[in-house]
Amino acid sequence: MNITPSYVLPQLPEALDGLIELALDLRWSWSYRSDVLWEQLDGELWSRTRNPWLLLQNLDAAKLDVLARDEGFLTLLQEHLQHHRQESRREGWFQKNIPSAQLQRVAYFSMEFGLSEALPIYSGGLGILAGDVLKTASDLGVPMVGIGILWQQGYFRQSLDDCGRQLELYPYNDPTQLPILPVRDPEGQWLRLELPFPGRSVILRAWQAQVGTVPLYLLDSNDPLNSPADRGITAELYGGGPEMRLQQEICLGAGGWLLLRHLGIEIDICHLNEGHAAFAILARIHSHMRDHGSDFSCALNATRAGNVFTTHTPVAAGFDRFAPELVTRYIEGAPKIFGVDLQQILALGRANAEDLREPFNMAWLAIHGSIHVNGVSALHGKVSQHLFQPLFPRWPTDEIPVCGITNGVHIPSWDNAEADALWTEHCGAERWLGELQDISAQFHNVSDTEIWQLRQKGRQQLIEFARNRLQRQLAMAHRPQEEINAAALVLDPNTLTIGFARRFTAYKRPNLLLSDPERLYRILSDPRHPVQLLIAGKAHPRDGDGKAMIQEWTQFLRRHPDLFHKVVFIADYDMLVAAQLVQGVDVWINTPRRPWEASGTSGMKVLVNGGLNCSELDGWWAEAYSDAVGWGLGDRHEHDSDSAWDRHEAEQLYQIIEQEIAPLFYQGRDESGCPCAWVEKIRSSMAELTPRFSSHRMLQEYVENLYLPAAKRLRERSSLEQLRSICAWQSHLKAHWHGLRFGELHVAETGEEYQFQMHVYLDDVPAEMIQVQLFANSVDAHGPELLPMQRSETLTGAVNSFNYRCNIAKRRPVSDYTPRIVAQHSLCEVPLENNAILWYR
Ligand SMILES: *Cc1c(COP(=O)(O)O)cnc(C)c1O
Repeated sequence: MNITPSYVLPQLPEALDGLIELALDLRWSWSYRSDVLWEQLDGELWSRTRNPWLLLQNLDAAKLDVLARDEGFLTLLQEHLQHHRQESRREGWFQKNIPSAQLQRVAYFSMEFGLSEALPIYSGGLGILAGDVLKTASDLGVPMVGIGILWQQGYFRQSLDDCGRQLELYPYNDPTQLPILPVRDPEGQWLRLELPFPGRSVILRAWQAQVGTVPLYLLDSNDPLNSPADRGITAELYGGGPEMRLQQEICLGAGGWLLLRHLGIEIDICHLNEGHAAFAILARIHSHMRDHGSDFSCALNATRAGNVFTTHTPVAAGFDRFAPELVTRYIEGAPKIFGVDLQQILALGRANAEDLREPFNMAWLAIHGSIHVNGVSALHGKVSQHLFQPLFPRWPTDEIPVCGITNGVHIPSWDNAEADALWTEHCGAERWLGELQDISAQFHNVSDTEIWQLRQKGRQQLIEFARNRLQRQLAMAHRPQEEINAAALVLDPNTLTIGFARRFTAYKRPNLLLSDPERLYRILSDPRHPVQLLIAGKAHPRDGDGKAMIQEWTQFLRRHPDLFHKVVFIADYDMLVAAQLVQGVDVWINTPRRPWEASGTSGMKVLVNGGLNCSELDGWWAEAYSDAVGWGLGDRHEHDSDSAWDRHEAEQLYQIIEQEIAPLFYQGRDESGCPCAWVEKIRSSMAELTPRFSSHRMLQEYVENLYLPAAKRLRERSSLEQLRSICAWQSHLKAHWHGLRFGELHVAETGEEYQFQMHVYLDDVPAEMIQVQLFANSVDAHGPELLPMQRSETLTGAVNSFNYRCNIAKRRPVSDYTPRIVAQHSLCEVPLENNAILWYR
């Protein structure tokens, strides 16, 4: 039985049909080009919602009739349609640089996607990154599809009550008002997947959003044929308890994989954005088993080459973990998706395969099922090496196989129209679409006046926005009319404007600036160097500390009524608010506790618009900071949550604002009022950092460093012979590793060299399956060293035993060097795919 949905497109006169095509492509969320169209349709609604799809649904018939006969409008529409279709066929960076046979298609799995406020299915940084990845793939021509969930309520919306406390609201995302369409099967029926769950099937409906040339498929369980409980699985992002979370993750990973199969979309790379999506690994394994009649281990080896895992978590407690009994119930309940190899599946989620009580860890599953793993900044890559150490016992931390690919932001989504124009003039309209090397040099030619005008304009627009929002907020909180009127005049367009917006949670220290409230008050009220502040941020509904920190701010403002004109807390931080803030502020402050930020992206969004960063030397800023481009907080070390250190950093922050930021902004102005030293800093920040922290740079790195090598590995393993050799290597080493034994080590010294000789008894292990290495730790001035030892003569009288040799220059004490044995296969990644290691001592 099927309930056929009646899904009605907006009814437009035929001449205006093209508007539907344009409104359904989210390209309008990052290109200012089509703004003129939407402004003509309904300027007011457009500026309020920035959602063309909503515009089309709310146009009145009379207006439509007028437009359908308006030659000027119709010509404009045709121009835009033509340009839109050209864009869809444009050859991108990918087509120009990468032979198409090397990479077929990437499926990017993510629990959340932050593309636009018109499609509110994200909560924060993770989702924004995912949205930026899809947009960038479209810009660069990277063949990609997105896989996500259509959250019926998305993440909660925030309002503030009249005591300044956070209220949580859950408006319903009516799918007919979102710029998405149902996915239909070849017969025109709305596509529905049946996902086996214990004792029942859950029906998943499929939707499609169009992100330029990249389709984003969204699944939801709100089908009338599902039980009420199952309809709620995709209700609330990050809502519900562990079982609900598990169900959501099965829908995303397994449901997403099933959908790709159903649509016949051939995928080589599954990119798992965080461990949430890791059930795709299991579903992919089972598909391989069914298609090729292979066993579990072989299918794992064959498919993991096509999986890439990006971790965003800076602490072990951040990984999703499930009770083994719970996972067992869902795996056993769905043999059609997961097969019947329960124990092998459970082992993939454990650090120690033998420990049956160990919780099922989604990050462990993701690592065990992928060929490349990366963190989201250089520092986070290092941090992740420590977090993943349990999977690689006895391996040196800096050999743990996780690299860092620093996040970037999709610049066209975060620049304002003036910045877009300025960059276009100096660096060309296609500046982000290809190689990025020349951009910095070109941008250095921009004049002081141009930069300062950009800043003045941005600040002014932000203030307008803040005044509007504040008025609406006060009205909602039933404040007196005089106060609402006064809100229309808050903030000053010539005052140094500092912004910060973030999730209100302990590690982000959103109240660091409040450590000494009287000092902050003095900074804000300084008559010579005044400062004004814009703040926004939500606390997770269950994060009591985070909510208390919001109240700390609102109460501070209440105690100082004269700050009404200088500090505005903008409620309901979302992409619209974020865009306004990053386009307008002079300085963006970010104060996480190192190393908890992983990357952070909000500070990157100010770069293109000429905002400067003053942030903790953590995440991306630890790489980006130099004296020439901004200000750094902290000492590049971790201090955990030491309150004395927090006070120290607060002091540092106050001092930087008082002694460096404010004077630099107000002093040394030229005759036209331009602060030349300030502008010089902006120019360096814009020119040097904007391309480096763009998602275009980031995605090029993903393609070149992860997707292409993974796709190559995947192709190699499509040969049955190669695959068999890998499986044999795995199982043979597993069975016989314990038989490996070191004999004696001899070191001879010549004038310049050490000559190492190591006796190794291989027992039943063929010599090609392993490598004997000489290892030296990083000590003092010496970095770590790793040298292969060459197999030479056999040992007399012993079976399968050899002398291994290595000569090295005498640069450090001989006792620094230790022989070891590791697994080796020319088609495999070690230690990711085989973590066996035997040390001589
Ligand atoms: C960019 C962005 C974030 C990520 O911010 P960080 O402070 O870098 O984690 C979160 N929420 C919104 C709405 C954003 O636009």
